[in-house]
Amino acid sequence: MILSERMKKLKPYVPGEQPQNRKYLKLNTNENPYPPSPQVKKFLENLDADKLRLYPDPAAIKLREKIGERYGLNKDQVFVSNGSDEALSFCFYALFDSLNGKLLFPEVTYSFYPVYCDYYGIEYEKIPVTKGLAIAVEEFVKHQGSCGVAFANPNAPTGSYVTLKEILYLLKNYSPEKPVLIDEAYIDFGGESAVPLLRDHKNLLLVRTFSKSMSLAGVRLGFVMAAKELIDALVTVKDSFNSYPVSALTQSIGEIALSDESYYRSINNAIVAVRESFSSDLGKLGWTVLPSKANFVFARKEGVPGKEIYLKFKEKGILVRHFDAEKVRDFVRITIGTQEDMARLLLELKANF
Ligand code: PMP
Repeated sequence: MILSERMKKLKPYVPGEQPQNRKYLKLNTNENPYPPSPQVKKFLENLDADKLRLYPDPAAIKLREKIGERYGLNKDQVFVSNGSDEALSFCFYALFDSLNGKLLFPEVTYSFYPVYCDYYGIEYEKIPVTKGLAIAVEEFVKHQGSCGVAFANPNAPTGSYVTLKEILYLLKNYSPEKPVLIDEAYIDFGGESAVPLLRDHKNLLLVRTFSKSMSLAGVRLGFVMAAKELIDALVTVKDSFNSYPVSALTQSIGEIALSDESYYRSINNAIVAVRESFSSDLGKLGWTVLPSKANFVFARKEGVPGKEIYLKFKEKGILVRHFDAEKVRDFVRITIGTQEDMARLLLELKANF
């Protein structure tokens, strides 16, 4: 079969395992251990299947209004997508162009960013992180000839966190004409969102997901908040690719989930509390744990390769994530589950390492 040269050059992102054969304790893809809002369950139980005859609203107006309401924006400052990976992909297409310089992102960050760059032919430069694997924003401003900046905050897979003050420093010292994309997939686990900075910084984009703090990884819903001009650019990309990326079910579920803020606050507070106690327990057992503001921790045990830790846990029925890349291969990333989940992991950890 003759295939495109374009396709042959792709190096796809490899997502965490979703095993269908054996029941694992899944602490590998940063899913929320708690169910979505009970309102979502109620909606699904009373769903009128006849409604599925129709296409969804291609502009997802109600959902965008609801998101806008939550964050003090209007719908023209909100874009919704089929998971935030799709939003990221559209952002990379719409914003970053090597004709204007290379894209900057930290040398340790979400490993989908270089994949999108290769997909769209965007050249990039990896910016050094600190010894403790944290993002150093002052490094970005040393590269003014770049076409934009992208990073996750909290960062993945480390959990490290950049303060609003540091983000403001970056925005003030980097070109206001070039997009700064902050992927806030994990911001609801104790970080402070950069939403208030959108008003004065028209080059700022914030990418969010319903997969983690909203416990809805299965429905695939992400969104972007930015100035109207940037949102319009994303709409142009979307409408050149797929008119209906967000299904009718997903739009409704998103609206319902947004209206149950108190439920989500309580489950996410619980995750933060478990993260703190689990990190402290790991530390007492001689593990190094990076400070995290996400729903996962990045940890290592001196003298044991990360791959070995991953394989041993897998043998014991627990999935964690290992990245075989420079600077991070000694670590494993452990998603924070319930208190019981973490107690089970600690038992295996004490018995095996
Ligand atoms: N950004 C970061 C930093 C992530 O870790 C993930 C999850 N893999 C995503 C975006 C994508 O999440 P989703 O497509 O489920 O919204």
